[in-house]
Amino acid sequence: MAARSLIGIDLGATKIYATLLDGREVVAETKAKTPVRGGPLAVVEALRRAVEALGAPRKARLVGLGVPGAVDADGATVRSAPNLAGWVGPFDMGGALSDALEGRTVVVENDVNVGVYAEHALGVAHGAPDVLGVFVGTGVGGGLILDGALRRGPTGMAAEIGHVVVRPEGRACRCGGRGHVEAYAGRAAMERRARTLESRGRDTVLVDLAPARRMTSSVFARALAANDALAAELIEDAVAALGLAIAGAVTLLDLPLVVVGGGLADRLGADFVGRVEAVVRERVYRDSPVQVSPTALGDRGGAIGAALIAERRAS
Ligand SMILES: [Zn+2]
Repeated sequence: MAARSLIGIDLGATKIYATLLDGREVVAETKAKTPVRGGPLAVVEALRRAVEALGAPRKARLVGLGVPGAVDADGATVRSAPNLAGWVGPFDMGGALSDALEGRTVVVENDVNVGVYAEHALGVAHGAPDVLGVFVGTGVGGGLILDGALRRGPTGMAAEIGHVVVRPEGRACRCGGRGHVEAYAGRAAMERRARTLESRGRDTVLVDLAPARRMTSSVFARALAANDALAAELIEDAVAALGLAIAGAVTLLDLPLVVVGGGLADRLGADFVGRVEAVVRERVYRDSPVQVSPTALGDRGGAIGAALIAERRAS
């Protein structure tokens, strides 16, 4: 049988990455900016253009889309997407994108779930029955595969490790809670903290490197390389928060493997992931053989996983 042609798209808070797969092989890819105005309809139009830019053949009838938000089990409705501008209430993303793409079948899934799915299908977790994926970027997301199947939970919130409490009454999380992992390890929270402390007189190159624009993962990497004390402190807090929450999950589920990816983790590399692993080993119950590993697919994983999930659900 000829390899199937699949389209996979990773819709991020800032960029869109679209890919064309022939079987398991990436044969075309394209990047675009996520619209910051116009809400879901503007996003649909940007996604349509990205698919057009791929030059996808007509026979590529299946489209997988990963979105940074809560997706219903129907694989179409995005219930909320706080990281996307102007997104209010539930939106039938699957239906709208299918209409925009000449009736192609569209399957929508949470962006972290698709990333973990890809690592399990083709990446570092290939062949592992159980794996927890933790993606550290603007926020902190998690995805869980148990006995080879993605665990969504009745509300689709399974593995939301970014909102596990690691410090009771700790820093405010943008979800409204306190002391959550994301309040320490999410890039946006780290940026807020850096700007607040700098405005109170703390010396740091972080703000000099990103005076008016977003404090990207590269900015944190450059500040660390320059031995910036505040950057080191923020990363230390992030490592501690991630390690503590991951250790709890490992103890609870007896997980042999945890994959840590996302923009910040990918940029800071194996050193960052190794430090998280050290905290996990220190905190986990007894002699768990757990390994904490960087991703194999990097920022391509989301789009590839979205395509593979679409294929699985449509078969
Ligand atoms: Zn939270």
